[in-house]
Amino acid sequence: MDHTIAAISTPNGAGGMGVIRISGKDSLEVAESVFRSVSGKKLKEMKGYTAAFGTIEDDGEVIDEAVALVFRAPHSYTGENVVELSCHGGMYITRRVLRAVLSHGARPAEGGEFTKRAFLNGKLGLTEAESVMDIISASGAQSARAALSTMEGSLRKRIDSVREALLELAAHLAAWADYPEDEIPEIDENDLNQGLEKGIGELKSLLSTYDAGKIIREGVDTVIAGRPNVGKSTLMNLLAGCERSIVTDVPGTTRDIIEETVMLGNVPLRLSDTAGLRSTDDIVESIGVKRARERLESAGLVFAVFDASSTLTHEDRELICSLEGAPVVAIINKTDLPSEIDTEYIKSRIGHVVFISAKNDKDTSELRCAVEDIAGTAEFDPSLGILANERQYGSAQDALHSLEEAVSALKAGMTFDAITILIEDAINCLLELTGERVTEAVVDKVFSHFCVGK
Ligand code: GDP
Repeated sequence: MDHTIAAISTPNGAGGMGVIRISGKDSLEVAESVFRSVSGKKLKEMKGYTAAFGTIEDDGEVIDEAVALVFRAPHSYTGENVVELSCHGGMYITRRVLRAVLSHGARPAEGGEFTKRAFLNGKLGLTEAESVMDIISASGAQSARAALSTMEGSLRKRIDSVREALLELAAHLAAWADYPEDEIPEIDENDLNQGLEKGIGELKSLLSTYDAGKIIREGVDTVIAGRPNVGKSTLMNLLAGCERSIVTDVPGTTRDIIEETVMLGNVPLRLSDTAGLRSTDDIVESIGVKRARERLESAGLVFAVFDASSTLTHEDRELICSLEGAPVVAIINKTDLPSEIDTEYIKSRIGHVVFISAKNDKDTSELRCAVEDIAGTAEFDPSLGILANERQYGSAQDALHSLEEAVSALKAGMTFDAITILIEDAINCLLELTGERVTEAVVDKVFSHFCVGK
């Protein structure tokens, strides 16, 4: 933290603007040595949150025009003195400016080092720091909102309230054990049990949002499957909102897997339109069919498409059997045609059945509801604060286990001392979750996922 660090904070590529961020106690001096303001004003004399226009110069050569934005410690992202030099975008210019900055005393920032400093300087908690990463990589509005809400501290507030209640329980237990002669109210086992159960309930509800949050953040691998000509490609195109797959009335046209990511409600679906499942002598088609079957096995969600205008074929029944237990929506397509299909049979084997005419309908809301129901995202409220990664999930789960053990210990008539220890274990897990008590190794691991410049 003694060193002043610098990195390009904008993406690597051509762009209207590029930002080189410098942070550390000497950042004003370092910036001063490459930046000359038009007004003649020195960066060192400028207040925080003010900007100057000027040129970047190195070895007597003008590299670019730039705006220097000054932040004074502790009122900056990292909590240190920060200067951001906004120059023109583009790989050459930004790298050239960075080189100039580095040759005047800054060292290159490591991946995530700005955010790590923000954490170490108390500007952000560990969960908030992790959510910075999620905000950068968010693909949908809801995942961005969830990450932003975590960054604003919603997860920490939720954890803190559980922890404070546990601390109170532990403190009462400890006081009662340590000072028996004082007039500390006796522990009521029912109250204690209730307190523990309340913590368990809150942790369980927090843990239960993890899967939904993960789906919203990362999306689901979704395979569109069915025999040839039921309308898989037409469905793909409807969901993609463009002609992504070739639609013909010739069975067996889609031979390779076609992929597209679409948002259905709040769920990003990575759709693959696969070759129609049937036995075939065509060698290319049969490779396609094999790939389709492999894809089906690893899918997070399957759209099994059927043709309403025909009776169920052997292939349809085979598909239904092979999907037992998997997350599936049965999509009965071509509802504009007279119905011949045995809907009751499908309903008896697949929990979610949706009727559609992929060729004529524009409305996919029925399918959206089925997907949100399966994904568990229908009731998802991104503002409540959710667990965003395996590390946070693991700590919350460890805390839950300790509390469950405490309840068992209480039932088994163990001493209050033993119960206090278990409650303290749970508190420690929660402190680790929010980063208030965390090893250096964990901190390093968290920030190792970050990109340089963040
Ligand atoms: P795939 O082989 O399963 O991908 O099926 P396609 O999407 O290529 O569609 C096969 C044929 O069914 C094409 O002629 C489509 O126009 C037609 N089709 C698809 N959806 C519908 C629908 O909802 N109603 C009707 N009447 N025809 C459809």
